[in-house]
Amino acid sequence: MNTKILTGMTDEHVLEFENSGRFMHKDVISAFKQLQLQAKEEIQADIQIVSCFRNFARQLAGWNAKAQGKRPLLDDQDNELPYQDMSPTEILYAILRWSAVPGASRHHWGTDVDIYDANEMKCEEVQLVPSECIPEGPFGKLHQWLNMKMDTKEAFDFFRPYENERGGVGQEKWHLSYAPIAQEYYNHYSIDLFKAHLQAIEIELKDILITNCEEVYEKYVMNIDLP
Ligand SMILES: [Zn+2]
Repeated sequence: MNTKILTGMTDEHVLEFENSGRFMHKDVISAFKQLQLQAKEEIQADIQIVSCFRNFARQLAGWNAKAQGKRPLLDDQDNELPYQDMSPTEILYAILRWSAVPGASRHHWGTDVDIYDANEMKCEEVQLVPSECIPEGPFGKLHQWLNMKMDTKEAFDFFRPYENERGGVGQEKWHLSYAPIAQEYYNHYSIDLFKAHLQAIEIELKDILITNCEEVYEKYVMNIDLP
């Protein structure tokens, strides 16, 4: 297993998806196209990508911005948390609710994709928040259709790792994952790899991350809904 793929340190496994400026694992592209086509035919939805592959540097920039209070920390109701009044540990867990540790994001793998329905909203307006995905929300139709397709195993091997509330990462209906490859990467993502990676990098909140690394690994990295 190439640990550089697991930790976002390479882009050798991804290709640009249809001039979208988004990059995807080369062996996921055809399944994603099939899912798009099926959604178009059955419900006239236009599945497009908000974000797919993100490398370590990109994930790190987002992480550090949140850790430094330059980007808002949101609670489960999309409300901004009071950064100034929070301890570093509270900030760490607030970030982890909606952002993976750089080096431990499924988006490094190119197998995971945040989607929206381009017939309902422009990409720049999409926030990727739970309220967009409820039945009455702009992407409600798409997600009800995906629920049905996943129930009947007709979603071209895509599943939702953050489908249910599991006390770790928040519910992210928009985050789809391609099981045949993502599960292989997941199975190779060990605590030893995670610890060694944290020791080797420069990152905001590094000391608290290392102190809490076993809990973070169990609760936020491995704690998913399996396909
Ligand atoms: Zn995602």
